Amino acid sequence: MSDKFDVIVIGAGPGGYVAAIRAAQLGLKTACVEKWVDDKGSAVLGGTCLNVGCIPSKALLESTHQFHNAQHADVHGIQVGGDVSMDVKAMVARKDKIVGNLTGGIAGLFKANGVTLLQGMGKLHGGKKVEVIAADGSSTTYDAENVILASGSVPVEIPPAPLTEGLILDNEGALNIDETPKRLGVIGAGVIGLEMGSVWARLGTEVTVLEAMDDFLSAADKDVAKEAAKIFKKQNLDIKLSARCTGTEIIDGKEVKVKYADAEGDKEIIVDKLIVAVGRKPQTQGLLADDSGVNLDERGFIFVNEQCQTGVPGVYAIGDSVRGPMLAHKASEEGMMVADIIAGHHAQMNYDVIPSIIYTHPELAWVGKTEQELKAEGAKIKVGKFPFAANGRAMAANDTDGFVKLIACEESDRVLGVHIVGGIASELIGQAAIAMEFCSSAEDLQMTVFAHPTVSEAIHEAALAADGHAIHMANRKKRK
Ligand code: FAD
Ligand code: NAD
Repeated sequence: MSDKFDVIVIGAGPGGYVAAIRAAQLGLKTACVEKWVDDKGSAVLGGTCLNVGCIPSKALLESTHQFHNAQHADVHGIQVGGDVSMDVKAMVARKDKIVGNLTGGIAGLFKANGVTLLQGMGKLHGGKKVEVIAADGSSTTYDAENVILASGSVPVEIPPAPLTEGLILDNEGALNIDETPKRLGVIGAGVIGLEMGSVWARLGTEVTVLEAMDDFLSAADKDVAKEAAKIFKKQNLDIKLSARCTGTEIIDGKEVKVKYADAEGDKEIIVDKLIVAVGRKPQTQGLLADDSGVNLDERGFIFVNEQCQTGVPGVYAIGDSVRGPMLAHKASEEGMMVADIIAGHHAQMNYDVIPSIIYTHPELAWVGKTEQELKAEGAKIKVGKFPFAANGRAMAANDTDGFVKLIACEESDRVLGVHIVGGIASELIGQAAIAMEFCSSAEDLQMTVFAHPTVSEAIHEAALAADGHAIHMANRKKRK
């Protein structure tokens, strides 16, 4: 038995490393346990998000978006002599460099804030004892006043498409494809399927996405899903709905036959690579000793309340390993909330205002409830919609696809949801989240001065449109 800590965090993803830094900033003696090591045996910090998730995928999306813009530079009168080409290996190397810089930065932040890094597999025992098992099998047990479990998630695998080196890939393998496949199959038209499908479609790959559900993007507002489906079709993303993968076969070690069934019966496609992106599941294997006292729910998530407390006093769990959306910003905010609670501060998180973004082009972003959810609840609502085609800055940027849709309560005028399809929807949605966090009314947004010309003016106009008073669109109502 050695040191005792005020807080031991297990897992150094965006939930865990943020919780550890915040706890240390609050004066708590803090350690963070991480099991992931690189080929030199050094701890890999940043979890899924920094290493094989948010950051590398956005690096590839940005590179291929720039490539697309270069190919279409002539709309601005720019003549790029000859064919524009992409050096895919250089693109992947750039992505790896960004990942390396960011993950290395976390080690620096740990040092600067006095967080002790414990390298190895963390296991929680009864009495808030944390055993850290090193790669060589040796183990050390530490006492903690408080433990934060932040073990994250891993991809779901499906029996009809077992992962096969270089051919059938999960999200990690998908980020390391280093030459443009001629044909790519993706199982799952969710966030990863659409983002990775877009990366390769922009480089000329024929992309076929098989989605088991009948509805496209069922979690999104129907207007967003409909507009997105229309746009993706134009971008050569062939999304097949009600299509369930039933089996795969490797042909001559270099192609994959993907068998699937839809309403018309059994079908198959042949692709050069297949990405399996059918969701993620909590990672709890080896995390909890039998006497830990921590319970899992029926879907395998660590059971917690609104404050992320497990049933064991002083043991908390956050991020992808607990209920709620599997998003990095949700994990980080939970991490900060829990560190604050441990330090004796009042802290809570507003689970009703967590933005979701899909980083295709245009991007899809939303916060709050959809029109369909609100109608199903019987809420009296008013809806304002404004297209980017009528926004001057979007026109200047040659980026006019999509709209802002704002939903407010008919009676109280409070903003209940904002749904955006647009070039920089990911940046705009923060404005909507701030408005909702501060319980804004549509009128508050109508009376806010938005700079001109900005793409953000579409939010102003959508708020005005909710009362039929948009300026740059035909009005529906006479202003009183
Ligand atoms: P993780 O990031 O999974 O980190 C958990 C860490 O705990 C890992 O480092 C793991 O090695 C470690 N660990 C687990 N068990 C133990 C143990 N017993 N002992 C020691 N260490 C342990 N989210 C967004 O918000 N925006 C995006 O753009 C986005 N893009 C994504 C793209 C892809 C391709 C993927 C796969 C995910 C993406 N996500 C995105 C989701 C996001 O990555 C996760 O929601 C986020 O990483 C969850 O953070 P976490 O800290 O809970 O878990
Ligand atoms: P997802 O839940 O977004 O989508 C999975 C899709 O696969 C669903 O549409 C589902 O109906 C479909 N599916 C499931 N089984 C299938 C089958 N057998 N055949 C065909 N389709 C099937 O999951 P994901 O795309 O794997 O992403 C995992 C998680 O990572 C998500 O929860 C997401 O929150 C997170 N993520 C976030 C971002 C972002 O915020 N931009 C990006 C990537 C990933």
